[in-house]
Amino acid sequence: MIKLVVSLLMSLACLPATAALQVFATAPEWAALAREIGGDKVSIYTATTALQDIHRITAKPSLLAQARRAQLVVATGAELEIGWLPLVLRDSGNAAIQPGQPGYFEAARYVTLLDVPAVLDRSQGDVHAAGNPHIQLDPRNMFRIGEALAARMGELDPPNAPAYQAGYKEFAGKWQAAIARWEKEALPLRGVPVLVHHDSFVYLAHWLGFKTTGTLEPKPGVEPTSGQLSSLVARQQNTPAKMVLRSAYQSDGPSLWISSKTGIPAVMLPFTVGGTPEAGDLFGLFDDTIRRLLKGLN
Ligand SMILES: [Zn+2]
Repeated sequence: MIKLVVSLLMSLACLPATAALQVFATAPEWAALAREIGGDKVSIYTATTALQDIHRITAKPSLLAQARRAQLVVATGAELEIGWLPLVLRDSGNAAIQPGQPGYFEAARYVTLLDVPAVLDRSQGDVHAAGNPHIQLDPRNMFRIGEALAARMGELDPPNAPAYQAGYKEFAGKWQAAIARWEKEALPLRGVPVLVHHDSFVYLAHWLGFKTTGTLEPKPGVEPTSGQLSSLVARQQNTPAKMVLRSAYQSDGPSLWISSKTGIPAVMLPFTVGGTPEAGDLFGLFDDTIRRLLKGLN
């Protein structure tokens, strides 16, 4: 009881004297990165959870209300949120967070996108028409994104700019060490062929060197068809995959079906912060992702 009272008093004492920077993050990974940089100087609203399909979110009133009071929107970009964020921004009536304003930040602008199609084609429901938007799963991307985000936060909240710089620097140091550890742990994954439900893991595969040999969805965002699944099972004869990967938000049916027909394990990965109980922050996201991949290999 005394401990509780003490910790309550401590948290009251730690409240910042000035109002915190109001951040609206479209996805849990950007909320987590803003928290690493900003600590208690920022107040963060996360628009989606790891158990939602971020390609398909409804622009509901609660999102509008949060966007209205935001000073900084942190989005992925690369058209990931194209189905809902433009509507939320427009209807928020908040001029400060419109695209082109300092209050609008797109992480994808700071990384090299993979799988950018030569010709833009949204036909047949392709949700990756601007290139693959799932950039959070190459941890090396967090350096440039984090550096740019810290600078932007400082621009919007000059008194705390030094704190954001220091927060980023501290994060980057720990992150560098963690990446070295993850790369060592994940060595057995090099060259391993895998199937994926959705093209969620191209950056992860690019980083760790495993190979995607088939996708359960016939096109990004199009539900797996029985024809597609059967052809993947048939292909196991000549190009055998070692496991079938899906994200926490995806239904397990298609990958469990593949698993039952082929005997390869179906592996669920957190995909973002909060996707599993172990993925509580950015560090936990990659700790748990690699642990699950290695477990699937054995
Ligand atoms: Zn996608």
